[in-house]
Amino acid sequence: MPYVGRFAPSPTGPLHFGSLVAALASWLDARNAGGRWLVRMEDLDQPRQVPGAAEAILRQLERLGLHWDGAVEYQSRRGELYDDALRCIAGWTYSCGCTRKEFADSALAMDGSRVYPGTCRGGLAPGKPARTLRLRTDAVPVKFTDRVQGEIAQCVEVEVGDFVLRRADGPYAYQLAVVVDDAAQGVTDVVRGADLLDSTPRQIVLQRRLGVVTPRYLHVPVAINDAGEKLSKQAQASEIGLQDLAPALAFLGFVPPADLAPGELLAWGRAHWSAARVPRVRALTPSSEGRSP
Ligand code: GLU
Repeated sequence: MPYVGRFAPSPTGPLHFGSLVAALASWLDARNAGGRWLVRMEDLDQPRQVPGAAEAILRQLERLGLHWDGAVEYQSRRGELYDDALRCIAGWTYSCGCTRKEFADSALAMDGSRVYPGTCRGGLAPGKPARTLRLRTDAVPVKFTDRVQGEIAQCVEVEVGDFVLRRADGPYAYQLAVVVDDAAQGVTDVVRGADLLDSTPRQIVLQRRLGVVTPRYLHVPVAINDAGEKLSKQAQASEIGLQDLAPALAFLGFVPPADLAPGELLAWGRAHWSAARVPRVRALTPSSEGRSP
């Protein structure tokens, strides 16, 4: 199958070093494979969005030389596709009326949230209004091989619980939209930050329910600061530019020759790219050498 990759930023601010790393890795993997590279704006979470951020990200990608194929898609315009998908899997979903407080004492999930204990699986209690639509999960462990992180296994029912696909007040959940869009756009390879590694089994469950193909996955380390915090989209945003390409390549395990001009780095990276060289860790602190101040 011809390679189709994608970069799917949330327009909550301009690109920062961490999102540059994700964009660069997915571009390098796609271009090294002679594949297509799409850009999709994940703009469903209205309150978190920053006006102008989507446009700023696109201009940054262009300035970096990370050119995409075809038209940029916007999730906010794709509601019909998500509704179709929800209709397809209606037998696997149910309305839930629980607030987070109601299951605040259930088991702790890996991301610090609470495992949903399935309270409304058997139907909403009389008088309880629906707040979310959840996907029924099961105890079958989901296993996949990440091209960098290796074998991953998760039992979604035990480790996450039935998860939200849509909130009753409207918005579609990221897990639903990402799966529907990757399938609709024919994405064969998902390359993104390892903060999404633990979401991948949920996405695979959803792919199976929808009867769509599971893409290959490659999760690169997330850039964190010395305090162990993920680099925020706001931090250093305005400085992201050509001078950050060499540090981003180095972060991914590729050290280009010192005499390469900034304009030659992408071609060099594309030719030398190999998933085997990417550090097999979930998070990493970028070296400050060569970084903009
Ligand atoms: N929109 C997500 C983010 O900006 C990425 C989603 C994905 O690549 O699947 O973190």
